[in-house]
Amino acid sequence: MGSIGAKDVPVLITADGRRIDGRKADELRPLAITAGPLKQADGSAFVEWGANKVMAAVYGPREVHPRHLQQNNKAIVQCRYNMAAFSVDERKRPGLDRRSQEISKVIAEAFESVIFVEEYPRTSIDVYIEVLQANAGTRCAGLVAASVALADAGIPMVDLVPAVAVGKVADSIVLDLKKEEDNYGSADLPMALVPQSGRLVLLQMEGHMTREELHRALDLGVGGCRKIYEVMREALRTRYGADAPSPGVAA
Ligand code: ADP
Repeated sequence: MGSIGAKDVPVLITADGRRIDGRKADELRPLAITAGPLKQADGSAFVEWGANKVMAAVYGPREVHPRHLQQNNKAIVQCRYNMAAFSVDERKRPGLDRRSQEISKVIAEAFESVIFVEEYPRTSIDVYIEVLQANAGTRCAGLVAASVALADAGIPMVDLVPAVAVGKVADSIVLDLKKEEDNYGSADLPMALVPQSGRLVLLQMEGHMTREELHRALDLGVGGCRKIYEVMREALRTRYGADAPSPGVAA
Protein backbone atom coordinates (compact mmCIF):
# COMPACT_ATOMS: atom_id res chain seq x y z
CA MET A 1 0.00 0.00 0.00
CA GLY A 2 1.51 3.39 -1.02
CA SER A 3 1.19 6.63 0.86
CA ILE A 4 0.32 10.21 -0.03
CA GLY A 5 2.37 12.37 2.25
CA ALA A 6 0.55 11.92 5.52
CA LYS A 7 1.98 8.90 7.30
CA ASP A 8 -0.10 5.70 7.10
CA VAL A 9 -2.76 7.19 4.82
CA PRO A 10 -3.18 4.71 1.94
CA VAL A 11 -3.63 5.74 -1.70
CA LEU A 12 -7.41 5.52 -1.98
CA ILE A 13 -7.74 6.18 -5.74
CA THR A 14 -4.95 5.24 -8.14
CA ALA A 15 -3.96 7.23 -11.23
CA ASP A 16 -6.14 4.99 -13.42
CA GLY A 17 -9.17 5.61 -11.22
CA ARG A 18 -9.14 2.27 -9.37
CA ARG A 19 -9.91 1.96 -5.68
CA ILE A 20 -7.92 0.33 -2.91
CA ASP A 21 -9.40 -3.10 -3.74
CA GLY A 22 -9.33 -2.57 -7.53
CA ARG A 23 -12.99 -1.58 -7.85
CA LYS A 24 -14.25 1.18 -10.11
CA ALA A 25 -16.14 4.09 -8.54
CA ASP A 26 -19.56 2.58 -9.27
CA GLU A 27 -18.76 -1.02 -8.29
CA LEU A 28 -20.22 -2.86 -5.33
CA ARG A 29 -18.29 -5.31 -3.20
CA PRO A 30 -19.33 -8.95 -3.77
CA LEU A 31 -22.72 -9.56 -2.12
CA ALA A 32 -24.23 -12.92 -1.16
CA ILE A 33 -27.52 -13.33 0.70
CA THR A 34 -29.00 -16.48 2.23
CA ALA A 35 -32.67 -16.33 3.19
CA GLY A 36 -33.93 -18.38 6.16
CA PRO A 37 -30.77 -19.92 7.68
CA LEU A 38 -32.14 -19.85 11.26
CA LYS A 39 -34.75 -22.40 12.27
CA GLN A 40 -35.92 -20.79 15.55
CA ALA A 41 -36.70 -17.33 14.19
CA ASP A 42 -39.89 -16.46 12.27
CA GLY A 43 -37.65 -15.08 9.54
CA SER A 44 -33.92 -14.74 9.03
CA ALA A 45 -31.20 -13.85 6.55
CA PHE A 46 -27.42 -13.95 6.40
CA VAL A 47 -25.53 -11.37 4.37
CA GLU A 48 -21.90 -11.57 3.29
CA TRP A 49 -20.95 -8.30 1.67
CA GLY A 50 -17.26 -7.71 1.06
CA ALA A 51 -15.74 -8.53 4.45
CA ASN A 52 -19.00 -7.81 6.32
CA LYS A 53 -20.88 -10.77 7.77
CA VAL A 54 -24.28 -9.94 9.21
CA MET A 55 -27.11 -12.13 10.52
CA ALA A 56 -30.66 -10.85 10.93
CA ALA A 57 -33.53 -12.56 12.73
CA VAL A 58 -37.15 -11.42 12.89
CA TYR A 59 -39.88 -12.37 15.35
CA GLY A 60 -43.50 -11.35 15.18
CA PRO A 61 -45.99 -9.95 14.99
CA ARG A 62 -45.98 -10.95 18.68
CA GLU A 63 -46.90 -9.64 22.12
CA VAL A 64 -45.24 -6.33 22.98
CA HIS A 65 -42.44 -6.26 25.56
CA PRO A 66 -42.25 -3.99 27.48
CA ARG A 67 -46.05 -3.84 27.57
CA HIS A 68 -46.37 -0.05 27.94
CA LEU A 69 -44.96 0.40 24.40
CA GLN A 70 -48.06 -1.27 22.92
CA GLN A 71 -50.03 0.82 20.39
CA ASN A 72 -53.75 0.24 19.93
CA ASN A 73 -53.84 1.14 16.24
CA LYS A 74 -50.65 -0.44 14.88
CA ALA A 75 -47.72 -2.77 15.38
CA ILE A 76 -44.51 -1.26 16.70
CA VAL A 77 -41.19 -2.12 15.06
CA GLN A 78 -38.31 -2.69 17.47
CA CYS A 79 -34.75 -3.18 16.26
CA ARG A 80 -31.57 -4.18 18.03
CA TYR A 81 -28.39 -3.73 16.01
CA ASN A 82 -25.35 -5.19 17.75
CA MET A 83 -21.71 -5.50 16.76
CA ALA A 84 -20.05 -8.59 18.22
CA ALA A 85 -16.93 -8.01 20.31
CA PHE A 86 -14.97 -10.10 17.78
CA SER A 87 -16.34 -8.28 14.70
CA VAL A 88 -13.52 -5.71 14.41
CA ASP A 89 -9.71 -5.78 14.50
CA GLU A 90 -9.42 -4.36 17.97
CA ARG A 91 -11.93 -6.01 20.26
CA LYS A 92 -14.98 -3.78 20.55
CA ARG A 93 -16.42 -3.18 24.02
CA PRO A 94 -19.46 -5.44 24.14
CA GLY A 95 -22.93 -4.05 24.63
CA LEU A 96 -25.20 -1.35 23.29
CA ASP A 97 -23.25 1.89 22.92
CA ARG A 98 -24.62 5.17 21.55
CA ARG A 99 -23.72 4.23 17.99
CA SER A 100 -25.62 0.93 18.18
CA GLN A 101 -28.63 2.70 19.71
CA GLU A 102 -28.66 5.29 16.94
CA ILE A 103 -28.36 2.65 14.22
CA SER A 104 -31.11 0.53 15.85
CA LYS A 105 -33.39 3.57 15.90
CA VAL A 106 -32.88 4.65 12.28
CA ILE A 107 -33.34 1.07 11.04
CA ALA A 108 -36.56 0.63 13.06
CA GLU A 109 -37.88 3.91 11.64
CA ALA A 110 -37.00 2.85 8.09
CA PHE A 111 -38.98 -0.38 8.46
CA GLU A 112 -41.89 1.28 10.23
CA SER A 113 -42.50 3.24 7.04
CA VAL A 114 -42.60 0.18 4.77
CA ILE A 115 -44.31 -2.49 6.91
CA PHE A 116 -48.13 -2.44 6.91
CA VAL A 117 -48.12 -1.84 10.67
CA GLU A 118 -51.85 -0.97 10.83
CA GLU A 119 -52.67 -4.59 10.04
CA TYR A 120 -51.26 -5.81 13.38
CA PRO A 121 -52.43 -3.52 16.22
CA ARG A 122 -51.11 -4.18 19.75
CA THR A 123 -48.19 -6.28 18.50
CA SER A 124 -44.46 -5.92 18.08
CA ILE A 125 -42.28 -6.85 15.12
CA ASP A 126 -38.80 -7.45 16.52
CA VAL A 127 -35.72 -7.22 14.33
CA TYR A 128 -32.33 -8.42 15.59
CA ILE A 129 -29.19 -7.60 13.66
CA GLU A 130 -25.91 -9.20 14.71
CA VAL A 131 -22.76 -7.97 12.99
CA LEU A 132 -20.28 -10.87 13.16
CA GLN A 133 -17.60 -9.24 11.03
CA ALA A 134 -17.45 -5.52 10.24
CA ASN A 135 -15.79 -3.66 7.39
CA ALA A 136 -17.85 -0.44 6.98
CA GLY A 137 -21.39 -0.29 5.68
CA THR A 138 -22.73 -2.55 8.41
CA ARG A 139 -25.93 -0.54 8.98
CA CYS A 140 -26.70 -1.00 5.27
CA ALA A 141 -25.79 -4.69 5.36
CA GLY A 142 -28.00 -4.98 8.48
CA LEU A 143 -30.91 -3.30 6.72
CA VAL A 144 -30.55 -5.58 3.70
CA ALA A 145 -30.39 -8.68 5.92
CA ALA A 146 -33.34 -7.55 8.05
CA SER A 147 -35.40 -6.72 4.99
CA VAL A 148 -34.97 -10.23 3.56
CA ALA A 149 -35.62 -11.68 7.04
CA LEU A 150 -38.90 -9.70 7.27
CA ALA A 151 -39.97 -11.07 3.89
CA ASP A 152 -38.92 -14.56 5.03
CA ALA A 153 -41.16 -14.09 8.11
CA GLY A 154 -44.08 -13.23 5.80
CA ILE A 155 -44.47 -9.72 7.18
CA PRO A 156 -46.39 -7.62 4.64
CA MET A 157 -44.36 -4.64 3.35
CA VAL A 158 -44.64 -2.24 0.44
CA ASP A 159 -41.28 -3.42 -0.85
CA LEU A 160 -37.91 -4.86 0.05
CA VAL A 161 -35.48 -2.14 1.17
CA PRO A 162 -32.02 -2.25 -0.37
CA ALA A 163 -29.38 -0.02 1.23
CA VAL A 164 -25.83 1.10 0.49
CA ALA A 165 -23.33 3.74 1.58
CA VAL A 166 -21.94 6.18 -0.96
CA GLY A 167 -19.04 8.46 -0.16
CA LYS A 168 -16.37 10.90 -1.17
CA VAL A 169 -12.88 9.47 -1.31
CA ALA A 170 -9.88 11.48 -2.56
CA ASP A 171 -12.28 13.83 -4.42
CA SER A 172 -14.12 10.97 -6.14
CA ILE A 173 -17.73 9.97 -5.44
CA VAL A 174 -17.72 6.19 -4.93
CA LEU A 175 -20.22 3.43 -4.21
CA ASP A 176 -20.11 1.06 -1.22
CA LEU A 177 -17.22 2.24 0.97
CA LYS A 178 -14.94 -0.31 2.59
CA LYS A 179 -13.19 0.31 5.90
CA GLU A 180 -10.15 2.29 4.65
CA GLU A 181 -12.39 4.44 2.44
CA ASP A 182 -14.72 5.08 5.36
CA ASN A 183 -11.78 5.93 7.67
CA TYR A 184 -9.73 8.14 5.35
CA GLY A 185 -12.44 9.43 2.98
CA SER A 186 -14.09 12.82 3.43
CA ALA A 187 -17.78 11.84 3.37
CA ASP A 188 -19.95 8.81 4.10
CA LEU A 189 -23.62 8.75 3.06
CA PRO A 190 -25.59 5.61 3.95
CA MET A 191 -28.99 5.40 2.29
CA ALA A 192 -31.91 2.98 1.95
CA LEU A 193 -34.41 3.02 -0.90
CA VAL A 194 -37.92 1.78 -1.62
CA PRO A 195 -37.24 0.82 -5.24
CA GLN A 196 -40.80 0.90 -6.56
CA SER A 197 -41.50 4.47 -5.45
CA GLY A 198 -37.93 5.81 -5.31
CA ARG A 199 -38.57 6.96 -1.71
CA LEU A 200 -35.55 7.11 0.61
CA VAL A 201 -36.32 5.68 4.06
CA LEU A 202 -32.85 6.22 5.49
CA LEU A 203 -30.38 8.96 4.63
CA GLN A 204 -27.51 9.97 6.87
CA MET A 205 -24.34 11.88 6.19
CA GLU A 206 -21.02 12.24 7.88
CA GLY A 207 -18.47 14.66 6.38
CA HIS A 208 -18.83 17.22 3.61
CA MET A 209 -19.96 17.27 -0.02
CA THR A 210 -20.98 20.05 -2.35
CA ARG A 211 -24.59 20.13 -3.55
CA GLU A 212 -23.46 18.83 -6.96
CA GLU A 213 -21.50 15.98 -5.35
CA LEU A 214 -24.51 15.12 -3.22
CA HIS A 215 -26.70 14.80 -6.32
CA ARG A 216 -24.13 12.53 -7.96
CA ALA A 217 -23.80 10.50 -4.77
CA LEU A 218 -27.57 10.02 -4.54
CA ASP A 219 -27.77 8.90 -8.18
CA LEU A 220 -24.91 6.46 -7.62
CA GLY A 221 -26.56 5.12 -4.47
CA VAL A 222 -29.95 4.65 -6.14
CA GLY A 223 -28.26 2.68 -8.95
CA GLY A 224 -26.42 0.55 -6.37
CA CYS A 225 -29.63 -0.09 -4.43
CA ARG A 226 -31.34 -1.36 -7.58
CA LYS A 227 -28.56 -3.93 -8.09
CA ILE A 228 -28.73 -4.98 -4.43
CA TYR A 229 -32.52 -5.32 -4.75
CA GLU A 230 -32.04 -7.98 -7.45
CA VAL A 231 -29.71 -9.98 -5.17
CA MET A 232 -32.30 -9.75 -2.36
CA ARG A 233 -35.08 -10.99 -4.62
CA GLU A 234 -32.87 -13.80 -5.91
CA ALA A 235 -32.19 -14.93 -2.31
CA LEU A 236 -35.95 -15.22 -1.72
CA ARG A 237 -36.48 -17.00 -5.03
CA THR A 238 -33.74 -19.49 -4.11
CA ARG A 239 -35.56 -20.26 -0.85
CA TYR A 240 -39.15 -20.19 -2.06
CA GLY A 241 -39.00 -20.73 -5.82
CA ALA A 242 -42.05 -19.37 -7.58
CA ASP A 243 -43.73 -18.78 -4.18
CA ALA A 244 -41.14 -16.15 -3.14
CA PRO A 245 -42.76 -13.27 -1.21
CA SER A 246 -43.51 -10.66 -3.86
CA PRO A 247 -42.53 -7.09 -3.07
CA GLY A 248 -45.40 -4.65 -3.17
CA VAL A 249 -48.01 -7.28 -2.40
CA ALA A 250 -49.29 -7.87 1.12
CA ALA A 251 -48.70 -11.48 2.14
P1 ADP B 1 -21.20 1.48 9.27
O1 ADP B 1 -20.68 0.14 9.69
O2 ADP B 1 -22.66 1.47 9.02
O3 ADP B 1 -20.39 2.05 8.13
P2 ADP B 1 -19.80 3.43 10.92
O4 ADP B 1 -19.55 4.40 9.82
O5 ADP B 1 -20.14 3.98 12.27
O6 ADP B 1 -21.01 2.45 10.52
O7 ADP B 1 -18.57 2.46 11.13
C1 ADP B 1 -17.71 2.13 10.07
C2 ADP B 1 -16.89 0.93 10.46
O8 ADP B 1 -16.02 1.26 11.53
C3 ADP B 1 -17.69 -0.27 10.96
O9 ADP B 1 -18.27 -1.03 9.91
C4 ADP B 1 -16.60 -1.03 11.68
O10 ADP B 1 -15.78 -1.72 10.75
C5 ADP B 1 -15.81 0.10 12.32
N1 ADP B 1 -16.25 0.36 13.71
C6 ADP B 1 -17.39 0.97 14.11
N2 ADP B 1 -17.48 1.02 15.45
C7 ADP B 1 -16.37 0.42 15.93
C8 ADP B 1 -15.85 0.15 17.24
N3 ADP B 1 -16.51 0.50 18.34
N4 ADP B 1 -14.66 -0.49 17.34
C9 ADP B 1 -13.96 -0.83 16.24
N5 ADP B 1 -14.40 -0.60 14.97
C10 ADP B 1 -15.58 0.01 14.81
